[in-house]
Amino acid sequence: NISVSGLNKTFGNTQVLKDISLEIAPGERVVVIGPSGTGKSTLLRMLNFLDRPDSGKIRMGDLTVTAEKASRTDILALRQRTSFVFQNYALFANKTARENITEALVTVKGQSKADARARADAILAETGLTDKADAYPAALSGGQQQRVGIGRALALDADLMLLDEPTSALDPEWVGEVLDLMRRVAEKQQTMLIVTHEMQFAREIADRIIFMDGGHIVEQGPPSSILENPQDPRTQAFLRRVI
Ligand code: ATP
Ligand code: MG
Repeated sequence: NISVSGLNKTFGNTQVLKDISLEIAPGERVVVIGPSGTGKSTLLRMLNFLDRPDSGKIRMGDLTVTAEKASRTDILALRQRTSFVFQNYALFANKTARENITEALVTVKGQSKADARARADAILAETGLTDKADAYPAALSGGQQQRVGIGRALALDADLMLLDEPTSALDPEWVGEVLDLMRRVAEKQQTMLIVTHEMQFAREIADRIIFMDGGHIVEQGPPSSILENPQDPRTQAFLRRVI
């Protein structure tokens, strides 16, 4: 199990995450929803120390990282067990699709160039990008770029895949192919924590939906109860706006 306890983060005078605790089971697909500025991205970023929590503890298997005394070794170990898919893809512009994947495998996982290349080619085939292996991001559509982003995360074979609004920067015509790829990843029982506004997708693939507001987890449960029978007025108001 992955467990997060007592996570807090303040930026300036604003406490953005307030004592967040969360358990994620192996293979579980969890979707996070909530209004803008509620701390969803901050939560995801804390989980692999892209932002450092002020306090709290993250446990993944035999690894426990405590915010106040996390060493570089702890943070590297945490990053080896997590992968991240960004809203704006975050690909290296000066590297090809294949190199974007091999680079991650060499630097994060310490793989040899040959192993990384073999893995990258298998992932490119799986994501339907074999013929784009040598293309640079600028020559790819938004949908293709994000498929590379998801492929890169997939290649890392992480205990937890974090996806922060992976389709919200895409032109509408590319959203479908990226959601299809995410569905396929979800079917493999990859443990995922996904922030998304795609409610139909969430309903299909989520084992659990978490509604966040004001730095808190307000309520959580299976899609049927959160989407169809929300208990908290804040969840009800949010869903009335987005569905
Ligand atoms: P959205 O749906 O718009 O993506 P969100 O729920 O992901 O919103 P966060 O990006 O986590 O929200 O931001 C939560 C709050 O923290 C916001 O008020 C934001 O301005 C603030 N914040 C986030 N990152 C920083 C930072 N690096 N420095 C200062 N404030 C920040
Ligand atoms: Mg966000």
